[in-house]
Order: sequence, then C-alpha cells, then structure tokens
Amino acid sequence: MNKHEKTPNRGLNTRLTHSGHDPQSYHGFVNPPVVHASTVLFPDAATMESRNSKYTYGTHGTPTTDALAAAIDELEGSAGTVILPSGLAAVSVPFLAVLSAGDHVLVVDSVYGPTRRFCNDMLCRYGIEATYYNPMMGAEIEQLIRPNTKLVHTEAPGSNTFEMQDIPAIAEVAHGHGALVSMDNTWATPLYFKPLDHGVDLSIHAATKYPAGHSDILLGTVSANEAAWPALNTANMLLGMCGSPDDSYMTLRGLRTMGVRLERHQQSALQIARALEGRPGVAKVLHPALESFPGHDLWKRDFCGSSGIFSIVLDVADAERHRAKAHAFLDALTLFGLGYSWGGYESLCVYANLSDRTVALPPKEGPVIRLQIGLEDSEDLLADIEKALAAANAA
Ligand SMILES: *Cc1c(COP(=O)(O)O)cnc(C)c1O
Repeated sequence: MNKHEKTPNRGLNTRLTHSGHDPQSYHGFVNPPVVHASTVLFPDAATMESRNSKYTYGTHGTPTTDALAAAIDELEGSAGTVILPSGLAAVSVPFLAVLSAGDHVLVVDSVYGPTRRFCNDMLCRYGIEATYYNPMMGAEIEQLIRPNTKLVHTEAPGSNTFEMQDIPAIAEVAHGHGALVSMDNTWATPLYFKPLDHGVDLSIHAATKYPAGHSDILLGTVSANEAAWPALNTANMLLGMCGSPDDSYMTLRGLRTMGVRLERHQQSALQIARALEGRPGVAKVLHPALESFPGHDLWKRDFCGSSGIFSIVLDVADAERHRAKAHAFLDALTLFGLGYSWGGYESLCVYANLSDRTVALPPKEGPVIRLQIGLEDSEDLLADIEKALAAANAA
C-alpha cells in the first residue's frame, strides 16, 4: 500500500472524492488552502542548516501541490509524483531525469508531436539518440534495443491515430535489458489504465486535459515507482520546475468530478463513433473500443474504459483533395470548435497533421479528422458532424 493511500480497496470515484487532502489537517476545511509561496521560515538556525522541516522553499512543494501529488499517487499507485507547468514539461523532465550523453531512447512513432520535436531538436544536441518504433511492436521491440538503450517511451492509444501498444510485453523486454519504461497515459487517465500496474516506471499526464477538464489550465504530472522516483525527484529539483498553486488547486478541484465527466465523455464518444462507422464518406473510425479497431483486443485486455477523443478517416481517394475536403468538413461545424488540446467540457475538432510519422504511416484512405467529444448532448454533436460530412462530400 502506498503511503498516501487513505482509501484502499475503495472504488475509483470514492478515491477521487476523498484523496489528497485531510480536512482535519487544516481546520476542517474540505479543500486544501492555496499557498502562494517562495520563502518558508525556519524556527532556528540549526533547522535552517539541516533543512529538517517538511517545507523548505516554494519550488520544493507546498500544502497545495502536495495535496494534488498525494491524490495522483493514490490513483496511480506511485511512490511519488511531481507537478509540472505543462503536459509537455511532464514529458521532457522524465527524459532529462533518466537519459545521459551517449544514451539511446526508443520512442513510439505515434507519439504526441511535440515529444518528437523535443527529442529531435533538443535531446540530440546533448548526444542522446532517439529511434522511432512501430506501435504494433510488442516483445519484438527487443530487435531495436541497443546496449545503450536506457528508456522506452510509450503512448497508448497513440496521438491522433489511437494505435494500442502491448505495454506489459514491452516493459518486460525493456527491463530485461536494464531500460526504464515511460508512458504518456493522458488519453486513459489513471481511471481507465494504471501504467505502473502493467510494468511502466514513469507515468505521464497532461493534467491540462481531463484532470483540469475546463480548457483553462496548463499542468502536467509525472508519477514514478520506487525504482524511478529518486532520479525523477532529483531532476525536477535541479531544473527548478514546479506547478503554480492556483493551477494545482484547480486541477485537484477538477479531479473530484473527473470520474463522472469521463463516464459521459466515454458514452457520447462511443455512441458517435458507432454511428459514424460504415457511413458513406467515412472510410474508417479510429477508436480502440470499437471491435473493428486493430488494437481492440489489447484495449479490452488492459484498459477499463475509453475516453472522449477519437478520429475518423474521411473517404477521399484522391490525395490531392485531402486538405480541401478536410477544410470543408471543419468549416461546416458549428458546435465543434477548431482548436488544439482536448479534455475540456466542450467539443473540438482538428485536421490531424501526420507528416512527421516515420513507421506508423498515415492511413491512405483519406484525411484524419480528430474529434474531442465534449459534454454537449450527443444527438446535437452527431447532427453537427453529419452536416460537416455533407459539406466535405460536396467540396
Ligand atoms: C496535450 C498533450 C500533451 C501536452 O500537454 P500540454 O499541457 O498541452 O503541454 C502531452 N501528451 C499528450 C498525449 C497530449 O495530448
């Protein structure tokens, strides 16, 4: 049992409601205080010199960030969690924590785009080489492991195209060769997949998405098992990265309702995905919870739910027409906003750019349209999509 685990053997919504803050620790107030702090005063010189007190400086944690970190530790089953100013920082900090000059990292090709840019434009300057691997690889990933491979980075489902990965098989091979495994688990949240229970060492979240849930906050979290926690914690201290008190507070507030929000996101997204499957104008629906999806068996084996973002592939044989048809689709939408990010209460749509892929190539059937299904009534959303399909067809 983890040190923060106040609600062992309880359901996920019970944990979401009660984890992270003990009201009696702060005059009985249900929510933790928002502590704005740089300086922390010590009672005497000896304590100051030994730093032997719970709090020492604002960058090293406050009662507000600790409350959020404790809640996440309980959900992830982790030894420790760091709070970072964005989801992208939650990717870059663990990479910097475990990789050194001369090391090699394996990164899944369906990775979040800015993660790839961080590897290609920054890590390489420090003498760290990245190889992109096919998300369909399980134990066969062993062929790509080199003596200097120190990290295997996973993300499942993949960004935009939602490929599933055999996480336990990959973790077993990586650990057999002395490499750690990180996973960007933003899509599933710890409610629908618990990476550390499947062999992952470092679980990454853009808390910007479902945990915050209202398109008004940027925050990231990284949760580590006992083996990876010292390196993660040290790197975070050295880099001076920390989440702000207000954003940490609001993310903990968001967590309280994440379970019920996700249930609705899940239900509406599945309903819409099923309605679009096999429709004229739609070549494919990329959603891991659909039986037709190639990675469905892995999703069914390892995950306990699906969230609200998936893609459709429009049926456009002529590659020259992909952009025009995709733009016609986007421009006809009235409820879906055209904007990046996801996980908020409102629906969004993006024409996915997959030009950076090296092995998990974009589908040939047509342009990939990513849909974030918000909390609106699903019949209204489906009607909006139908109008957009008609506009794409006419373009
Ligand atoms: C959005 C996202 C991130 C980055 O989060 P930000 O808070 O926007 O920096 C990282 N990984 C995945 C999978 C994401 O979707």
